[in-house]
Order: sequence, then C-alpha cells, then structure tokens
Amino acid sequence: MRRSFYLALAIAVFGGFEVKGQDAKYSTPDDLISELRALAEDTTQTPIEKRLSVAQLKATSINKKWQYAELLASILDVELEVSLDNTNEANRKLKPLYEAAKSFEDPEVHLRLDMSQIRIDAALGNFKSVKVLRQKLLEDVIEITKPSIKGDVFVAVAESQYMIAEYADAIQNYRFAYQAYAETNNDSDKAFVKLALGNVNTDIGNPTKAMTYFSEALKATNAAGDQFLKSVVLYNIGNTHFQQGEYELTINSLSLAKSISKEINDEIGIAWAVKRQADAHKELGQWQFAIDGYNQVVDLFAETGSLLNQFDIHVGLAASYLGQGKFDKALESLRKSEPFLDKLQEASDRDEYFLTLADIHAAKGEFKLAFEVISNNYDNLKNAFYLDRQRDIEKYRIQFDSELTDEQNQMLLSENQLKNLEIQTKQEQTKTLLLISILVLMLLLVVGFLLFKQVKNRDLFKALALKDYLTGSPNRRAVLDSLSLKFEQAEQGSTELIVGLIDFDNFKQLNDKYGHAAGDKALQAFSDTCNQVLRKQDSFGRYGGEEWLIVFDDIEFGKVFDVFERLRHFLNEHEIEGVPSTHQFTFSMGLAKYDASLDDNMESLIKRADQSLYLAKSEGRDRAVEWSEQA
Ligand code: GH3
Ligand code: MG
Ligand code: MG
Repeated sequence: MRRSFYLALAIAVFGGFEVKGQDAKYSTPDDLISELRALAEDTTQTPIEKRLSVAQLKATSINKKWQYAELLASILDVELEVSLDNTNEANRKLKPLYEAAKSFEDPEVHLRLDMSQIRIDAALGNFKSVKVLRQKLLEDVIEITKPSIKGDVFVAVAESQYMIAEYADAIQNYRFAYQAYAETNNDSDKAFVKLALGNVNTDIGNPTKAMTYFSEALKATNAAGDQFLKSVVLYNIGNTHFQQGEYELTINSLSLAKSISKEINDEIGIAWAVKRQADAHKELGQWQFAIDGYNQVVDLFAETGSLLNQFDIHVGLAASYLGQGKFDKALESLRKSEPFLDKLQEASDRDEYFLTLADIHAAKGEFKLAFEVISNNYDNLKNAFYLDRQRDIEKYRIQFDSELTDEQNQMLLSENQLKNLEIQTKQEQTKTLLLISILVLMLLLVVGFLLFKQVKNRDLFKALALKDYLTGSPNRRAVLDSLSLKFEQAEQGSTELIVGLIDFDNFKQLNDKYGHAAGDKALQAFSDTCNQVLRKQDSFGRYGGEEWLIVFDDIEFGKVFDVFERLRHFLNEHEIEGVPSTHQFTFSMGLAKYDASLDDNMESLIKRADQSLYLAKSEGRDRAVEWSEQA
C-alpha cells in the first residue's frame, strides 16, 4: 500500500507537472513509441526507475489521445510490475488491456499480454490458466521472427514450467530463449537466461553447475550495467547456498543482494532478501532474527500477492515461535498460513504446515493430536512424498539426459577423433607409402647404379685382369689364354703353332742412361709396334718386365724372322720420349714350334722358347733363334 501510494504521488507530482513539457517533446505517436522501446531495452535503468518514466509517457499518450502508444506504455508498465514481483498490481493493470488490444491487430501486443498473464497466473497459483496460455504462446511463437520477442516468449514458457518442476521442458525452452537472445546484443536478456538455468540446476541438485551459470550471469549483468538483475542473481546465489544447507553463506550473499536493492530502491528485492535471510536464521536456530525478518516483510508480500512467500513467512514464524517455546504465538502464525494451503501448487510445500503443526502439538505434550495431524494428512504427506519422488525421478531423468547428451557428445567427439585419426592414419599411410616408394625407387636406382657399376666394373676388372697396366697390351694371363686356345687347335693338327719369347737387350743400361720413365715409354712403344706389325691371327702379351710372348698362328719359320726384323725396324722408327732418336733398340727372340712328337704342352713349349732366347743372348743378342736340340 505504502509503495502504491508513493507511486501515485510521484505520478501526480511529476506526471502532472511535466505533461506539458512531454507533450511538446513528441510530435507523433511514433516518437513516443520509439522512446518506449528504448526504455524497455535500457538495461541501465532499474524497473523502479523505468516505471516512473513509463507513467509519464502513458500520461502524454492519454493527453494526446494516442491510443496505440497508450496501450504500449500500459503493457510495459505491467511488465515492469511483473518483473518486480508486484503480482496483484500487475494483474489489476493487465485485465483492461486485453480489451484495449482488440482494436489493434498487432500479434506482438497479444503475445506480450499473454506473457505477462502467464507469469501472473503462475505467481497466483492459477495453474489451469498457465497451461492454456503456455500452449497458446508456443503456437504463437512460431510466427515470431524478432529474436528479442521470441526469446521473451520462450522465457515466459520456461518459467511457467520451472515453477511446476517440469525441469527438462524448462531447460529446453530456456535454451531456445538463449538461442534467440544470442542474436541480439542485450546482455541483460542473456544474463537472465543464465540465471534461470542456474536456478534449475540448483533445484535438480547441481549446485556446482548452478554457481557456474550464476557467475556467468553476474558477469553479463556487470557488462550490461544492470544493477537490478545483478541483485536478483545475488539473491539466487544466496538461495542456492540455502538449498545446500550453507546458511551463513546464504546470509552473506543476501546481504550483498539487499544492499544493491537498497541502492536502486527495490523494496520487493529487499523483501525477498530479508525473507530468505530469516529462513536461514530459522535453520540456524537464531529464532529472534528469523522472527524479526519475517515480521519486517510479511505485509509487503501480502501486498504483492506472492502466495508462497506469505505462506512460508507464517509457517516460518510458527516454527520460530515454537523454537522460542511460544506455543500460542506459534499456533496463531500457523493459522494465518492456512488460507494459502489450497492455493499452493506443490503438495510438498503444504508439508511444512502439517509437520510444524504436529511439532507444536508434540511440544505441548499433545501427542495424540500430533499423531492425528500426521495420520489425517497421511495422504497429503504421502502425496508430497510421491511428488518429491516424481521430482527426484525428473531430476535423475534430466541428469541422465544431460549425461546422455554429454555421452553422445563424447561419442560424437570420439567418432570425430576416430575419423580424424583415420584420415591422419591414411594420410600417414599414404605418406609412408610415398616415402617407401621413393626409398624403393632410390634403392632401385642405387642398386641399379651399383649393379650397372658392378657390371661395368666387372668388365673393367675383366679387362684390367687381361691388360697390362703400363702398356695397355695383353698381359701374361691374356697371352697365355690365347696360347691355350691355339695350343688346342695345334694339338688337333689344324694349325702350325710357333711361340716367340722376346727380351730387350741391355734394358738395364737404357734405364740407367735415360731413366726408368724412358724405359716405360720404350715398352709402350713396343706394344704399339706389335699391334702394327703382327697379323690379326697372331697374339702377343707382356710376359714380364721387358719380356714379351708372341703366339704366331699358322706361319712358316722364315716369315717369323721377317716379322722379327720389322718389329725392330718399326720400334726404332718410333720417337720415344726421353730417348734420343739416335738410340738403336735391339732385342733377342727365342722361338719354339709345337711338336706333337715331343709330347709338348704349353709349359714345355714356352720353356723351349726360353731356351732359344737364352741361346740368342749368348750368341750376341739382336737376333731370333729357333729352338734346336743344342739349345
Ligand atoms: P740382357 O740383354 O741380358 O737382357 O740385359 P738386360 O739389361 O736387359 O738384363 P735383364 O733382362 O736381366 O734385365 C731386365 C731389366 O729390365 C731389369 C729392369 O730394370 C728392367 N725392367 C724390367 N721391367 C721394366 C719396366 O717395366 N720398366 C723399365 N723402365 N725397366 C724395366
Ligand atoms: Mg730380361
Ligand atoms: Mg733384357
């Protein structure tokens, strides 16, 4: 009453005084309407401050006969009363607006009326109406595209569900609301949803999660500069502490909430905080604090129409007086709670009444009466118990659902991780395969190269093995190979075979006189000479040092002497580095012809050639000597 009186006074004074100035400020209804919109969305002003501004705008609209603007101002006024938990006042103001709204075809207007109505009905315990309105709102919201209104509708629906412990549905609709608000830049709206989700989590036994939501909500209210909402969040933090049995923390948080409410002149906010603090004092057995608190706010809640608060206060007072041993006062308080019993939605709320009544009887020694209270209300208590169980089931269902969601998310996550891993593995496999391919290719190339080299080397080795390193002519092994071939043919009698062993005369002297290098050059020159002079079918090779073996194929002896002469001639034609051209080279040659009658082999044949060479040397050198018995 007090508050309404002051409000009326304020409107009379400010409104009456300022109407003329306001009138001049707005030339069209749209000016005023946009001012109303801005006011509704302003998060820096408290509902109490806004209510004054709205009253002025409403007065201007009436004055100018702008009916639509007047309707919008009235709706905002009702919404502010609702947000202040001033239920009775809100209800009284709302009723005529439905009639006024009929003249305007504005779906948003009808939605806003229904949203206020559902909140009022929920607070007044008109649950049948709540259900009807909820259905209507959910149907109407489909048409709505404006995110802020959409969010508001979902919040209104969620609140009505939260109040009757339909937590899962409430959470769902709060989430829809948040999605809608996410498209706006109104931090207060977002904070409000976080706050609501915090409250739901408190009720379903998730205080940790609730506190997380509350702290997020607090941050958002700070960002929005919304003191009113901040006080509400702090109130709810206190409430969560209360439900956790943390009564000292409850009192502390509510002191903070209360001081903000005082700053912004939010009487109802102060009342909520004082009432909850009294509850905490009661639980702590601080009876007088509790009684003082309850008494401080009992009238205000009677005025606002908050049923549960009024009922709670009377029962709380009864319990506190009982604590002090004041049985009559306790009973008197309890009687005051009785008118609310039938209106309470929750059977479990009624429990407190019966249990307190039984306690009072028992305390007075009226055990029979105490027993009767319990047994007569057994159905209610049982019902309450049943409802509590229902609520528990609901809690578990939500927890299970959220666990399920978490699990599904986890599964989805794992699935994704698995897929990523698969992709990664595949990529790695491909990489590895590529690497292996490259390595194999490189290996093949290397092996191929090595094989190629080896083949080449082998050929080279083979060639080297058969070539004399100094002169490039066939070496001893090569010329012996040639000899063995020819020897077989000679044995078969298909060819005449003569071998000649040549040794340079006085080669030591040459080395001594012109140097070893000059000697080397002379040997190279002899190799060239052989290549020029000898026939294709003949073979030769460096047999060792400055000794050469020549294999003459199918030749007469006389011709061999001619070859000998030509060899000497050609060698001396050669210019040999380090050796004066005047130097005359000579060499001696011992010859031996294959003779089957001598039972020849390669060794004996060469040996006989060597004997002939020895003879040639001893006979004065520079000659070819054919093997004979005397040799
Ligand atoms: P003779 O007329 O009795 O054969 O006299 P000689 O000096 O040639 O004596 P002998 O055949 O016993 O000596 C061979 C010499 O040839 C010894 C060695 O210094 C030289 N000699 C052997 N191989 C090479 C070679 O590859 N290069 C050079 N520069 N000298 C060689
Ligand atoms: Mg020699
Ligand atoms: Mg010699």
